[in-house]
Amino acid sequence: MTDVTSPIARPDGAPVSSAPSAEDNPCLSCGACCAQFRVSFYFGELDTQPGGWVPVALTSKVNDFRAAMKGTESGGGRCTALRGEVGKPGISCSIYPLRSSTCREFSAWEEDGSPNPDCQRLRVARGLLPLEPKPQTAAAA
Ligand code: SF4
Repeated sequence: MTDVTSPIARPDGAPVSSAPSAEDNPCLSCGACCAQFRVSFYFGELDTQPGGWVPVALTSKVNDFRAAMKGTESGGGRCTALRGEVGKPGISCSIYPLRSSTCREFSAWEEDGSPNPDCQRLRVARGLLPLEPKPQTAAAA
């Protein structure tokens, strides 16, 4: 999901992957994924669970094993943690260091540097420019 701020360590000390610089990060003026997909994840990530970190107050129960970010439960809705206007500079995640694994694992680019097709689809639907291949991949080609 939206990759919007500098990396910070999670409360449990687990590493957080580095965010690209602002000039290379299309997420800094997008946020469409956080306003479209159902963001569900294992309930053990909730801060009410041992070692958990996602604020439970911002989530809904899906079933005995999964929770979802409020606003995203049915898909097509905006995550309650999203701040700013989708598609505009300044969009951000208010719980970035505490976001779920589902958010952490969603990337604008595939492993080979090609644009994530889900990003492309959402960006085009909102009138945003399509993503280019990941900058370092294009330079290396
Ligand atoms: S928690 Fe943050 S990154 Fe995850 S969907 Fe919500 S706004 Fe996006």
